[in-house]
Amino acid sequence: MTLNTPLYKVLPAALILALVCQAAPANSLRQSQEDFRKIYKQLVEINTTLSEGSCTEAADAMAVHLRAAGLPDTNIQLIVPPDHPRQGNLVAKLPGHAEDAGALLLLAHIDVVEANPADWERDPFTLIEEDGYFFGRGTMDDKQMAAIFVDIMMRMVQSGYQPEKTIKLALTCGEETPFNFNGVSYLLKHHRDLIDADFALNEGAWGILDSNQTPVFYGIQAGEKTYQDYQLEVTNPGGHSSQPRKDNAIYELASALLRIAEYEFPVEFNATTRTYFERLATLKTGQEAQDLKAIAQIPPDPNALARIKENPLYNSVLHTTCVTTKLDAGHAPNALPQRALANVNCRIFPGHTQEKIRQNLEQVIDNPQIAVSFVDPPESTSTPPLLTDAVIRPIETLSEEMWPGTPVIPILQAGGTDGRFLTPAGIPTYGVNGLMIEPDKMFAHGLNERVLVKSVYESREFLDRLVRLYVGGE
Ligand SMILES: [Zn+2]
Repeated sequence: MTLNTPLYKVLPAALILALVCQAAPANSLRQSQEDFRKIYKQLVEINTTLSEGSCTEAADAMAVHLRAAGLPDTNIQLIVPPDHPRQGNLVAKLPGHAEDAGALLLLAHIDVVEANPADWERDPFTLIEEDGYFFGRGTMDDKQMAAIFVDIMMRMVQSGYQPEKTIKLALTCGEETPFNFNGVSYLLKHHRDLIDADFALNEGAWGILDSNQTPVFYGIQAGEKTYQDYQLEVTNPGGHSSQPRKDNAIYELASALLRIAEYEFPVEFNATTRTYFERLATLKTGQEAQDLKAIAQIPPDPNALARIKENPLYNSVLHTTCVTTKLDAGHAPNALPQRALANVNCRIFPGHTQEKIRQNLEQVIDNPQIAVSFVDPPESTSTPPLLTDAVIRPIETLSEEMWPGTPVIPILQAGGTDGRFLTPAGIPTYGVNGLMIEPDKMFAHGLNERVLVKSVYESREFLDRLVRLYVGGE
């Protein structure tokens, strides 16, 4: 190979892409990337776990940056709930100049899942760049997005950018600790005006790379299943275990749980999941491709459906699922059990209430002696946000520019994000984080959380351009 031979003539395209996209070492970063990296590093290094950390400190640090960039103080608010002093939230606003143009909400949570340094290979609260990855708790979930949103807003302010639509930013606490405190829920209740928007961008979906780090598809989250825990309870007068009786709380509970194990909620589709399966079919080969295509038909092919349901990921978005996750029964080894309890965790397909599923469980169990109740009061539910052209076209356009030929696939999230509060409250929320992920190297919530360095810089570019497409202006 001579130096005059263009790369594309001697190297396969994928390799060229890999070379071109190779992460630049920190010392060759463009100035604005370096500025962003500092914010990202600061955010990762402020511990924001529930046990020891402080979201308030992180929110305050981000407010300092916005102020320094020139955003007026009146547009920045630190919202610290009086009874949760360490779970502060930051909201900021860059007003649009067009009247009635509405608002876009940029949402990211700044709290993180617990991380015990003793269990990690590197300190979870130090941003470490190594082997092309950023390591650290929150590097992916969700401080990458929070730092990018702060950085976008800062650069807009610094350059005098005037959006048509108002941009609202909310960095919130409590996403990772359900049933404790949740910043989005709190803001909706007490400061709705600060986050009200036509729609919101949030975490919840990403792009997938193959083993050569070539993009396979770019996912956006459009809707999520509803999380609900149910308690099953059987009581019994009990007695001495030397004189067993026919009725037994543990046996009754066990037979109820077996019925739930055997029961399958009906398969259903919505616009998100139908498109998901249709587009996924184009990426697969052989029987799997045929099956994915066949189940997206109306009605779905039953044989194809049976095969597809064997994949837990596909199965999770085909219907409501309920599974027993905890048991607690009996009070002494030598006594008949007076009480038996089970926790049944359901992920409810959009369109059904938690009460409807509670009644379904009662029907399946078919035993009036077993009480089925909510563990926590049900949250509001709603149908998934619509995949309107105004929302999806800019994503498809940008995705095609940055990752040519990579399809955009809408995803129904079987887990849960803060979108579960916003969408039912009338702020349709989409999971668009711009990251390309190696599916087997994500480790969000787990040990040694990491993210590809080049993916972080790409996602920064993607989100920056996307926000500008949504809000207009110059
Ligand atoms: Zn998250």
